[in-house]
Amino acid sequence: MARFDEKVVIITGASSGIGQATAVLFAKRGASIAITGRSEKNLQATRDLAIKAGGTDDKILLIVADVTKEEDTKRIIDETVKKFGQLDVLVNNAGGGTLEGFNDSHFNQPLKVYDYVNNLNMRSVIALCQEAIPHLKKTKGNIVNVSSIGSSRPMPGYTYYQVAKASLDHLNRCLAVALGPEGVRVNNVNPGIIRTNFNQAMGVPDETVKKLEDAWVKPNVPLRRPGEPIEIATTIAFLASDEASYITGQMIIADGGTCINTPPLPSEQL
Ligand code: NDP
Repeated sequence: MARFDEKVVIITGASSGIGQATAVLFAKRGASIAITGRSEKNLQATRDLAIKAGGTDDKILLIVADVTKEEDTKRIIDETVKKFGQLDVLVNNAGGGTLEGFNDSHFNQPLKVYDYVNNLNMRSVIALCQEAIPHLKKTKGNIVNVSSIGSSRPMPGYTYYQVAKASLDHLNRCLAVALGPEGVRVNNVNPGIIRTNFNQAMGVPDETVKKLEDAWVKPNVPLRRPGEPIEIATTIAFLASDEASYITGQMIIADGGTCINTPPLPSEQL
C-alpha cells in the first residue's frame, strides 16, 4: 500500500462524500493535506476524521473556498504552497449535478444552470490546474480528476453535468499529453453510483435516493449495490501514487460493473 509521507495533496470537495474519504485516506497514509469546500463546519468534521485515522493537525490545512470563483481557486493553491512549501498531488473532486433549486437539470433548463454546472465541474478544474501546474512541474507531481461514468453514458436529466464531465475526460487527455514530457501525470476516476450527498445536494429527498437504489441499482449494477466513497478514494490514491508511475491520460471506471452490463433479453427469446 503506497505511502505519501513527504507529499502534499490538495483535495477539493473534501467536506463530504468522496472528497472526505479521500482526504482521510491520504492523511492515514502520511500526506500533508489541504482540504477545501464551502462548508467550514463539514471541513472541520473531515479534519477530525483525518486525525482519528492517524493524521496530525500540523499536516492539515483547511481552506474555505468556492471553486467557481477564480480568486478562490488561486487562493487554494497559494495558501497550500505557502504552508507546506510544495505541491505533489491535486485531486479535483468538487462537483455537482445541478444548480441548487433546480432538482433535475433537463436540457431545456436555463443557461444559467449550464453555466454553473460547467463552471463547477469543468472550468474550475482548468482554473485550479493553471495555478497548480508550475508547482507540479517542480515536484514531478500529478493530477487526479473525479469525472463520472455519465461522461460516456447519457442518462436523461443530467445533460449539462454529463457534458461537463465529458469535457473533463478530454481535458485529462489533453493535459496528459501536454504535461507528460515534464514528468507530470494526469488521470481521471469515473465513478458509478456512489453513496454520498450527491443527490441530496440537488434537493433529492433521502427516500427518493433509497427508492433509486432499490429500483435501479440493485437490478442493473452487477455488484448489486452502490459504491462507498472509500472505494473511489482508494482508486484516487492508487493513481496518485508511484505505483501508477506509467499510467497517464486514463479514465479508470469504478462502477461495480454498471457500464459493461447489458439489459437481459426478454425471457421468451432465451
Ligand atoms: P457530495 O455532494 O457528497 O460532495 C460534493 C463536494 O463538492 C462537497 O464537498 C462540496 O462541498 C463540494 N462542492 C460543491 N460545490 C462546490 C463549490 N461551488 N465550491 C467548492 N466546493 C464545492 O458528492 P460526491 O462526493 O458524490 O461528489 C464528488 C465528486 O464525485 C463530484 O465531482 C461528482 O460529480 C463525482 N461523482 C459522484 C457520483 C456519485 O454517485 N456520488 C457518481 C459520479 C461522479 P461544500 O458543499 O462544502 O462546498
